[in-house]
Amino acid sequence: MDTLDLIKRNAEKLLKQIPENVTLLAAAKTRSNEEVQAAFDAGIRCFGHNYVQEAQAMLPGLPFRADWHMIGHLQRNKAGAAVELFDVLETLDSARLARELEKQCARLNKIMPVLIEINSGREENKDGVLPEDVDALAEALREFPHLKLSGFMTMGPLTGDPELSRPYFQTTARIYEQYRLKDDAIRFLSMGMSHSYKAAIEEGANLVRIGTLLFGPRN
Ligand SMILES: *Cc1c(COP(=O)(O)O)cnc(C)c1O
Repeated sequence: MDTLDLIKRNAEKLLKQIPENVTLLAAAKTRSNEEVQAAFDAGIRCFGHNYVQEAQAMLPGLPFRADWHMIGHLQRNKAGAAVELFDVLETLDSARLARELEKQCARLNKIMPVLIEINSGREENKDGVLPEDVDALAEALREFPHLKLSGFMTMGPLTGDPELSRPYFQTTARIYEQYRLKDDAIRFLSMGMSHSYKAAIEEGANLVRIGTLLFGPRN
């Protein structure tokens, strides 16, 4: 079977498997326009990129509209391009970045949904804010009228075993639930990847980010 047929088959299978209230985001890093198109043709409407440059190279050439999420670490000097390209930013992790994004969104007159990335595993070299620092960043966001806090994202430590990810998913889900109760705009809990999306959904994820299971192994 050729790659594009395989992607369509994988996409259809995943869309059938995943509950209706859960959004399947296709993690498009390193993939070609044709591969992304195949996922779209099979019904996927939400995509993610890790790098602003990669999105810049791909998005203008695509003949369809979909929701594009920034899922990689965002540098402040890429904030302007990011707010032009993306519909949702999943990796907000500092007030300094928020300040720059606010400036860029104001320039475009665009209200940008943002998720706070949580370093749920408290890993030294990981992006994201520690669970106890979420409130301070959320509070800082209230100063920025063009940024709309819309949920939370976590990676968690990369382990081969999805069961080991559950505590990190639970930490993030608890924060999401607290915020959702007091704010209707909170709607995304983004966690789980190819090997862990089932556990993530069981722990409350309503947005799962899948690359390998959909497109095949990355080279
Ligand atoms: C690549 C990536 C994914 C998807 O990973 P797979 O294991 O290929 O499913 C999810 N989230 C982020 C942030 C990624 O960079």
